[in-house]
Amino acid sequence: MQVPPFYSPWRGLALRDVWHDNDACFVAKSIPPLHRLPGTGPTGRARCEYCALLTGAAVPTGFRKFWPRWARHR
Ligand SMILES: [Zn+2]
Repeated sequence: MQVPPFYSPWRGLALRDVWHDNDACFVAKSIPPLHRLPGTGPTGRARCEYCALLTGAAVPTGFRKFWPRWARHR
C-alpha cells in the first residue's frame, strides 16, 4: 500500500540512502517505525526502487491499454 514518503538515517537492507513510500517494501520493513522520519530526506536522496515497483509508478498510466490482456490488473 502506498504511504506518505518517509526516510531514515538507518538504511536497513538498502545499499544506499533512499526514501520509501510503500509499506509493502521489504527494505522499508527492515527499518523500525521509530527510526522513520517523514518526507523524502536531504536533497539528492533517491526513491527506493522497490517502492517504485510496488506502487507501479514505473509504468506510465497511458501504457497500460497497450499491454496484453493477461498483463492487466497488476
Ligand atoms: Zn522502499
